[in-house]
Amino acid sequence: MIPPSPTAACSEPGDKLITLMVRHASRIAALIVVLLPELIAVQAARANALGDKPLTIVVPFPAGGPTDTVGRIVGQALGQALGLRVMIENVGGAGGTLGAARVARATPDGHSLLLHHVGHTTAPALYRKLSYDPVADFAPIGLINEVPMTFIARKDFPPKDFRELIAHVKANRDKITYANAGLGSASHLCGTLFLSAIATDVTTVPYKGTAPAMNDLLGGQVDFLCDQTTNTTGQIKAGKVKAYAVTSRRALASLPNLPTADAGGLPGFDVSIWHGLWAPRGTPAAVVDRIAVALRKALAEPAVKKRFADLGAESVAEARVNPASLGEHQAAEVKRWAQVLKKAGAYAD
Ligand code: ASP
Repeated sequence: MIPPSPTAACSEPGDKLITLMVRHASRIAALIVVLLPELIAVQAARANALGDKPLTIVVPFPAGGPTDTVGRIVGQALGQALGLRVMIENVGGAGGTLGAARVARATPDGHSLLLHHVGHTTAPALYRKLSYDPVADFAPIGLINEVPMTFIARKDFPPKDFRELIAHVKANRDKITYANAGLGSASHLCGTLFLSAIATDVTTVPYKGTAPAMNDLLGGQVDFLCDQTTNTTGQIKAGKVKAYAVTSRRALASLPNLPTADAGGLPGFDVSIWHGLWAPRGTPAAVVDRIAVALRKALAEPAVKKRFADLGAESVAEARVNPASLGEHQAAEVKRWAQVLKKAGAYAD
């Protein structure tokens, strides 16, 4: 019988590794002694990257509006996930560009963040002179949700349905007023696409946000508005405004009786607003990562999902809540809206 060779006794890769480790045990132990404190320090720095100061999320529209609603839902859940206090600061005006400019200039330490929507990617096509670069001056953290919009009007506005609304706006273009939240806002974008689709111009009345626009609509000072469901669902359900159509291609579970604009007279009409979270460019990667992880956790909370769903909004898939996905999405949207707005005849200021 052939006796087993010494190598055959440890022919498995695992056995080889063990033999090697035993042979170099003292060196490995020395390496661990040297590296362990380093590793612990890196982990601690990462966990501590934000310190314990509160975070401020700038919402670039006034309190009580749809972006503010998303900001407050996310801010609360993010604060819990981080174990830190999160405050909302409303910096409305100029279609969201004033708030964005504030964050672009803030200290990049993770304590000043921007929660904005699609307007962060339409602004470059609409403003000739922005004091900041929406891409170069920001570090993306993560996408948040998608929110459809709705066409609504003062309660006593004559048209009975979306088809009539189109005909009425066309026939009364000199008398009708459309409220929006300023050049570059989502309501401006939706109105621009609508008016371009029906080849009509009306007087637009810009507000700092759609919270004050809604107040004037309720008071009958302006005629109609296209705004996120996060602001309109409650008013529609309470019967305080006239609702004509939802701008998404699919009808909404939260407003089942509202037809889509696509089915109601404007085939192909599709506007959905997304929100994202940014830090100023230069924020340390460890800080951005920590906030991104917390944002993912916050958006996965069933209570957050439910609040969004009740308002017709939907959290984006977990795999898209990260800096890279928001960066890619932002770049693609800047390109897309530049073309669409040019075609719609919405020129830079
Ligand atoms: N809905 C607004 C917009 O048109 C923003 C807001 O007031 O939150 O972008």
